[in-house]
Formats: sequence, C-alpha cells, structure tokens
Amino acid sequence: MGNELEKHWRDECGVFGIYLRDPTAPNEAARDTYFGLYALQHRGQESAGIAVASGDRIVLHKAMGLVSEVFSPEVLDGLTGNVAVGHVRYSTTGSSHPVNAQPLVFRYLKGMVALAHNGNLVNAGELYLRLANLGSVFQTTTDSEVIVNLLARYAQDSLEDALAKSMIDIKGAYALVIMTENKLIGMRDPLGIRPLCLGRRGDSFILASESCAFYTIGAEFVRDVEPGEIVVIDENGLRSIHPLGSEEVAHCIFEYVYLARPDSVIDGINVNRFRRAMGRQLAREMKVEADIVIAVPDSGTTAALGFAEESGIRFEEGLIKNRYIGRTFIQPTQKMRDLGVRLKLNPVEEAVKGKRVIMVDDSIVRGTTSKQIVRMLRDAGAVEVHMAVASPPTQYSCFYGIDTSAREELIAAKMDVGGIREFIGADSLYYLSEEGMFAAAGRIKGNFCAACFNGRYPIPIPQTGRIDKDNFERTGGGC
Ligand code: AMP
Repeated sequence: MGNELEKHWRDECGVFGIYLRDPTAPNEAARDTYFGLYALQHRGQESAGIAVASGDRIVLHKAMGLVSEVFSPEVLDGLTGNVAVGHVRYSTTGSSHPVNAQPLVFRYLKGMVALAHNGNLVNAGELYLRLANLGSVFQTTTDSEVIVNLLARYAQDSLEDALAKSMIDIKGAYALVIMTENKLIGMRDPLGIRPLCLGRRGDSFILASESCAFYTIGAEFVRDVEPGEIVVIDENGLRSIHPLGSEEVAHCIFEYVYLARPDSVIDGINVNRFRRAMGRQLAREMKVEADIVIAVPDSGTTAALGFAEESGIRFEEGLIKNRYIGRTFIQPTQKMRDLGVRLKLNPVEEAVKGKRVIMVDDSIVRGTTSKQIVRMLRDAGAVEVHMAVASPPTQYSCFYGIDTSAREELIAAKMDVGGIREFIGADSLYYLSEEGMFAAAGRIKGNFCAACFNGRYPIPIPQTGRIDKDNFERTGGGC
C-alpha cells in the first residue's frame, strides 16, 4: 500500500443531527446539537460546526477548535431553525485547515443541503478524477466533498434517489448526516463500519455517532441505523430505504477498543461491558504477579477495572490525567507529542511507590505514550512495571476512518512483542490475543472489521484511490 495513501487518509469524527417537530425556542435545534457535539467531543477536537435549516434557508457556523470554543451563546442565538446537523473533526498531521471543517453546505439544483461525514471513502480519488473530468470543482480536500458533487450530478433525481445511487458509487466507511431545508437524512455504509444511531425525544428524531449524545439532550435511544440504510426524517415522520440490500456487516472493533465512550451502546454491544470483558480476558491470558493494577486514563480505565476484577489484584489510581489537555495524538511533531504526555499524565507516587505495577492501556500505537509512562512510574518508585494492552498489536493502518497512523509509525508493524517491551522499558508486556478479543465481544468474528489488528480489510483498498498530490492534496480525508 502506498505511503501517500496511508498518510493522507485518516480521520475520526463525530456527527449529529436533529429534526424538531415543535421547537420551543428558535435556536433549540442548534442548542441540542451543541450539547450533542459536546458529548461527542472525544471523537474530534480539531474543528466543530453546526448548520441549521428553517424551511427556506440553511445557516452555518464552523471553525477550528473545541465545541466550547467555536460556539458562544450569541452565535447559537443566531442559528435558528428546526433542523440541524453538527460535526466534530479530529486532527491529523497537516490537515488542520478551516476549509476542511464540516458540515459542508452547498446549493444545487434542488436547493440547499448540509452534510456531515464520519469515515473514509476508499475510492474518493477515483471518484474525484471522474467528477473533475466532468467539470466539478472542489473547495476542500475532503472526500466528503466528493459525495456532495455526486449528489449534484444526480440532481434530476430526488435527494433520496440521488443518495441511493451514490451508495453504489462510493466505497468505504461512512456515517452521513444530511439536511435539506426541511429534512434530516442519515446514511450508513453497507458494512456498518462507522456507527450511527437513532434517538427520539417526543415527536423529534435525532441521529448521532454514539448513543451517549442522546442522554445529554434528554432523548432516548431507538435503534442503530442499519448497515446500508438511509433514514429520512421530515414532517411525515421517519421512513427507511435499503438500496443495496446488504447482508454482511463489519463493525469497527476499534470503536469498542478505544474510540467510543464507555457509556455508549453501538450495534447492540455495550462499550463498557465489552471493554471490561477485554480486561478480564487479558487477566486470564496474562499470568504475572503484582501488587496493584493501574489504568492509563481514560481509555484504559474500563479494561483495567475488568483486569482487577478477574485477577483479584487491587485497582489503584496510579496516574492522574489533566482533563484540560487535548489528546496527545493531536500534536503534530514527535517533540510536541513527548511533551504532551507529561502535560497530560502525572504519576501518583503514594500509590505506586515500592509496588509491582500492572499498567493497563487499550492500545499501543507508536509506543511513545507507554514508554514515557513506564519511565514516570519508575521515577515515582514503582519496582516493577508490567504493561497489559487490552487489544492485540495494532499492526495495520486503518483506511476506514480511524487515525491509527501510517504503517511505518506503528511500532507493532516494525517490532515483535519483545522489541516493543524493550523499547517501552517495561518488565513485561502482554497483548490481548485476537481470539480473546472476539471472545470478549461475545459475537462471531465475522461481524467485525479488525483490519488494524489482522490486516484483513473488508473493503479492498484500490490503488486508483490514490491521490495525485499535486492535483488534489488530500490532507484531510473525509473524516
Ligand atoms: P502511542 O504513544 O502512539 O503508543 O499512543 C498510545 C495511546 O494513544 C494509547 O493510550 C491509546 O489510548 C491512544 N490511542 C490509540 N489509538 C488512538 C487514535 N486512533 N487516536 C488517538 N489516540 C489513540
């Protein structure tokens, strides 16, 4: 697989949409979307945006930054209308550009449309060339704009039919939330790689990447949008279209391992329960004597609790996270990343001093974080540090919307477990086995995409999807 492709096609994002039947305030849809995005902030901290429709127009506000930074009460007051879509976007090196922030809002033959996308198309390069040759022009470097242009090409059809046709053209992972001046539409890729779920509050419908957003706005979870399903919500209620009739599914397992919040339920699996089960399974697989189990907060906490439960080794808060520092991944250079870990995590000397410590994290990507934490714990007086990773080695890049970084940066793609242990400086290192991970899920393997662990990509990555950098620098991917 080409490096160019690997470098430029990674993003994570959160999407949200709401259709209010009887708004109680002109900016209620925008306010709900704001709080919904707040709950989805962990899925993207680079930019945030909300578009609101009110029957005859769409207004948009988006900018770089966290949800709380992008929207002031005054801005929210100006976003009036009963339908809204929102987006939070994650950072990847070189892609921090306001033009790539979403939702994308455009006007075509049938009126105005706003689109928010989580995922990555694997054939966006090919589609881009096809559309550009037909005269399409592009303003962003996101693959989401390819979808926008496809819809415009099918403008003779209804938007639903245009989306159904686009579903045949686009290959990859996507959870889309789309809005016209008076409709809200959700569309999920045929394998259901990226999550998207449907909620309800009274007569109003909500779409969100994760169910945790429903709780925040007082809505209840109804169901997941099905793989390959298009749901259309308007004044007549909700209807569902299944243009491709897909049967296979490949839900992203990394959502459960790392990305999603533990209080979400995705495709019928409770993230908290799955993560805890992974921790318990890891404890069964890993036989090490120790005094305490600690977590790398927050993503390792749930698995660490499961580990402690199963092993009978006491759980301690050994590391404190500064909640006001964004994810270290966000830092573009290695130097910044190194500093980032120290800014974010501090050891609790009292808890670890003189102890044999098992430190649980959800995954190792480059190894930078683990290496520094092991050092920190030793400096704080830990006598042994054993690293327990609640997933198998991350050896392959993701092309479907998770930023697991380029393959040459993945430590497990370059070294065996012994080499990684040495690099991070731990006394021992254990990864959860692949079978153990699937066993923890309590479902058959076939239901997941675990390509980042085993290299089995459920959608082939076409080489023609590669982008000619001079022509169209895809520094953002779709997200
Ligand atoms: P690293 O220093 O590159 O090994 O980073 C490992 C840490 O990054 C772990 O604590 C993971 O929880 C976290 N992590 C794993 N996957 C991702 C991702 N796709 N984006 C951001 N952070 C991640």
